[in-house]
Amino acid sequence: MAKGNISVQAENIFPIIKKFLYSDHEIFLRELVSNAVDATTKVKTLSLKGEAKGDLGDTKIEVKINKDAKTLHIIDKGIGMSEDEVNKYLNQVAFSSAEEFLSKYKDDATIIGHFGLGFYSAFMVADKVEVITKSYREEAPAVRWECDGNPEYFLEPHDKTDRGTEIILHINEENLGYLEESRIRELLNKYCKFLPVEIKFGTRTESTWEGEGDEKQEIKTEVDDIINNPHPIWKKKPADLTDDDYKNFYQELHPYSQPPLFWIHLNIDYPFNLTGILYFPKLTNNFEVQKNKIQLYSNQVFITDDVKEIVPEFLMLLHGVIDSPDIPLNVSRSYLQSDGNVKKINTYISKKVAEKLHSLFTTDRKGYEEKWKEVSTFVKYGMISDEKFSEKAMSFALLKNMDNEHFTLEEYKEKVKSNQTDKHNKLIYLYANDVKAQHSYIKAAKEYGYDILEMDTIIDNHFMQHIEYKGHEVTFVRVDSETPDNLVQKDETKESVLSQSDQDKVKDIFTKSVKNIGAGQVELKAMSPTDHPVVITRPEFMRRMKEMQAMQGIDMNMFPDSHNVVVNSNHPLVAEKLLKMKSEDKKADFATYLHDLALLNQGMLKGEELSNFISRSLEFVK
Ligand code: ADP
Repeated sequence: MAKGNISVQAENIFPIIKKFLYSDHEIFLRELVSNAVDATTKVKTLSLKGEAKGDLGDTKIEVKINKDAKTLHIIDKGIGMSEDEVNKYLNQVAFSSAEEFLSKYKDDATIIGHFGLGFYSAFMVADKVEVITKSYREEAPAVRWECDGNPEYFLEPHDKTDRGTEIILHINEENLGYLEESRIRELLNKYCKFLPVEIKFGTRTESTWEGEGDEKQEIKTEVDDIINNPHPIWKKKPADLTDDDYKNFYQELHPYSQPPLFWIHLNIDYPFNLTGILYFPKLTNNFEVQKNKIQLYSNQVFITDDVKEIVPEFLMLLHGVIDSPDIPLNVSRSYLQSDGNVKKINTYISKKVAEKLHSLFTTDRKGYEEKWKEVSTFVKYGMISDEKFSEKAMSFALLKNMDNEHFTLEEYKEKVKSNQTDKHNKLIYLYANDVKAQHSYIKAAKEYGYDILEMDTIIDNHFMQHIEYKGHEVTFVRVDSETPDNLVQKDETKESVLSQSDQDKVKDIFTKSVKNIGAGQVELKAMSPTDHPVVITRPEFMRRMKEMQAMQGIDMNMFPDSHNVVVNSNHPLVAEKLLKMKSEDKKADFATYLHDLALLNQGMLKGEELSNFISRSLEFVK
C-alpha cells in the first residue's frame, strides 16, 4: 500500500471544507454525480473515435445507499482512472482546485450558494472517502484510494475488473440524513433530473398483463428506477417538437399547473451559448407563488432557481429553464451583474420575448387578444422597466375598452381623435378602473359619445403615465375626475339658465347648509339639464399623486381627500325646485340631500352620514 500526503497546506483545508456553507452541504451529490457524467461522456467520445476498444456496454450511473455500512455509493462506467491519474487528478488537480476555491471565497458571504467545490465537497458529509477505479485502458490495473480527511491518503491495487469508478462516502455522524432514501431521491430530483446520462436509484415494480380472459394475470417485474430525463426537450430542435411536447414538459417542470399560455424556445450559440424554454404561465393573483420558477442549468446540471441577474426583472414571472455554460457560477452577485455575458443574455431574452409577442400578435391577433389580459401584465411591466422593450412593444401593446374591443396605441388614437381632442389639442383617453363603482360616470361619459378604457390592474397607473410620457400629446383622465361635459375640455361653454344673482344664491345655500364643505369647494356649472344636479369629481392629478404615494407607503392622510362639488345650475331640481323653496330649513335639507346623492354615487357616503341619509330618505318616502 502506498501512502502519501496531499499537500503541505492541507492541514487547514479539511476543517474548512467540512464547515463551509452548512446549508449547501447537499451539493456534494451534484458534484460527484456530475463527475460521473463527465467520465461517462468522455468514454463515449473516446469510443466514437475508436480510442476506447470494444462495446461500452451499459453506461448507466448508479447511486446506492448501504444503511448498515453507513455508506453512499456513486458508481459509473465511465473513463476510470489509472494509478497515475488518481495521483494527478485527485491528489493534485482536484485538491488544488478545492483549495484555490476556498482561499478565494471563504470570507465572501455574498457568493452564490451554488458553486463547484468538485470532488472534495465529499468531505463536507463524509469522514472517509474511498475511490475504486479502473481505467478504460485495459492494461492499467484497478486501484483503491482512501482518505479520511487527513492530508494523508492510501493507494493500493484493487481487484475491480470492470471499467469505471465507484466513489464510496462513509457518511459522518452529523450527516446521517444522507443515508435516507427520500433525501437522496429529493436531491437527485433537484440537481440531476436532466443530466445527460441515465442515473439509476433503486428499482421499482412494473406490472404487465399476460393471457386472455380468466387466464389473464399480472406479471410484476423489478426494473431499474431511472430518476432523470437525459434528453430534455430544450436541447432538441424546435422543428422536431410538437405543442404537446412543450406542454408535457411544462407539466414535468411544474406538476399540476394550468397549461401555459405560450412559450419561447431559446437557442443561441454566439456570442454566448444558451438554450432553454420560457413559458408564459396563466397568472394567478398570487404573484409571489409564481415567482422564481425559472431554473438555471449549466450543461443540464441544475444550478439554481434564483435567476435575478440573468432574466430581466419584468420576466421574473415566467417559468421554465435556461441552460448556459457561459454564465459564471463561482462568483459573487455583484460580479455577475457586471459580467458581459450576463448582460448580453439579459438583452437577448428580452428581445426574444418581444419578438415572440410581436409574431403572436401579427399571426393570430384574435388569439392574442384573448390572452391579452394575462399577457398585459408582462407587456406593461416590460414597457415601464425596459426602454428597448418598450419601443418594440409600442406595436403590440393593446388598450381594451368597455365594449371589450382591443386596439393598438395607433389604432386607438385614430378611433378617438375626432371626438376626444381637447381645446389645447391634447388627446384625452378616458378610463375607468372600477366598472361597478364608476357606473354612473361611465354612463354619463358615454352619453357624450366618448369611448372608455378599462384600466383595472395595479400596474395601470404606471402604464398610463408611461404612455403619457412617451406619447406627449396624450392624457389619461378617469371618468369621475371631471363633470362629464368637461372631461374633454372644449371651447364652447353652455349658457346658464340662472342669472348671476340666482347662481350666487345656490352656491350660498350649499356652502352654508351642507356639512363639511368649504366655500372654495363648491362650483356652479351650466351643464346639460339631463346631467346630475350635483356631481362629485376627483381631479385626476391630485388623485394620482395620492395613489402613487399610497403605493410607496406614504401616509395618505397627510393630504385630505380632495374632491370638488359641482352643482349643475341647469338642472331643474336646482334651477327651479331648490330656489323656489320657501323656508331656509327646507332649502338646507334639500341641498344636503342632493349632495348626499352625489356622495353616494362616488361611494363616499359612509358611517353616520349614510345612516342619516337613509333615515331621511325613509321620511321622504312616507
Ligand atoms: P473538476 O470535475 O472540476 O475537474 P473535481 O475536483 O470534481 O474537479 O475532479 C478532479 C478530476 O478528477 C476530474 O477532472 C477528473 O479528471 C477526475 N475525476 C473525478 N471524478 C471522476 C470519475 N468519477 N471518473 C473519472 N475521473 C474522475
